[in-house]
Amino acid sequence: LKPLKDRLATPKKGFFSKLKEMFLGKTIDDELYEELEELLIQSDIGMDMTMEIVADLEKQVAKKRLKASQDVYEELKELLKDKLVYNTEENTKLDIQDGKLNIILVVGVNGVGKTTSIGKIAKKLKDEGKKVIIGAGDTFRAAAIEQIEEWGKRTGVEVVKQSHGSDPAAVIFDTVKTAKNRNFDVAILDTAGRLHNKRDLMKELEKINKIIKEQSGNDKFETLLVIDSTTGQNGLEQAKIFNEIVDLTGIILTKFDGTAKGGIIFPITNELKKPIKFIGVGEGIEDLRKFDSKEFVEAIFS
Ligand code: GDP
Repeated sequence: LKPLKDRLATPKKGFFSKLKEMFLGKTIDDELYEELEELLIQSDIGMDMTMEIVADLEKQVAKKRLKASQDVYEELKELLKDKLVYNTEENTKLDIQDGKLNIILVVGVNGVGKTTSIGKIAKKLKDEGKKVIIGAGDTFRAAAIEQIEEWGKRTGVEVVKQSHGSDPAAVIFDTVKTAKNRNFDVAILDTAGRLHNKRDLMKELEKINKIIKEQSGNDKFETLLVIDSTTGQNGLEQAKIFNEIVDLTGIILTKFDGTAKGGIIFPITNELKKPIKFIGVGEGIEDLRKFDSKEFVEAIFS
């Protein structure tokens, strides 16, 4: 594999790469802080977090009496690293334990890459030797069931489904029951993402959660929210809503290959206080990477 900074070609070519030239050899003055503010906002970090970071930077620069732009640049790097504190090795790892049925519930609005991410995770776990089953719980989106079956065929993973329009909770029930009876290691469960009706979505997810707990015997399991990184602040708004209605254990940020920005990663993980478990970097089955915050910060500052 190529180093992350090459694979994540986008942030390298994108906004963050401008940070270095913005700082190096420059005088630290209001103009530079304004330039920094503008760049961070453009990178999708968002207004609130940008203001916070720039204010913190100014504070640290004054406190530590930093004069050289290189030192201020390093301080900024540390501040950005701090915004990724929820992404420790331990937190970004999928919680999969031997000797039991592990559940991965996947939520998110239509079109963000939920189905694709499920296919990629199924492949990853299967390659690790796990016995994996997928539940086609998105019974609302017309093509979702066929699409997930296609991923199933490609990965050699069994898919439990019902017809289009049937009750998603029934599909989840069937999947977990089958998985339990036949000693599967992991059941990955798709859901429908109809965010336009928050109350219905909440009710549906509550019902699904109850079924999973009853059928699997697990009180705690992975619930991953899929967010499209190209949607910027909109993605953050979605994340906040889902975080209110379901107990998320992590985020999958997709289409990282399609954005020159990527700054959205900072407010999402920081405001939700949840780790980014994976980033999607393409449409192919192998295009899913474990999120490594240290590697990420080094990559975007290189
Ligand atoms: P769902 O409605 O959330 O299940 O979304 P899909 O899985 O059907 O994905 C929607 C579109 O996004 C499809 O065309 C996928 O191929 C594409 N897609 C998903 N993940 C990625 C990614 O990481 N990078 C790119 N470039 N495209 C992706």
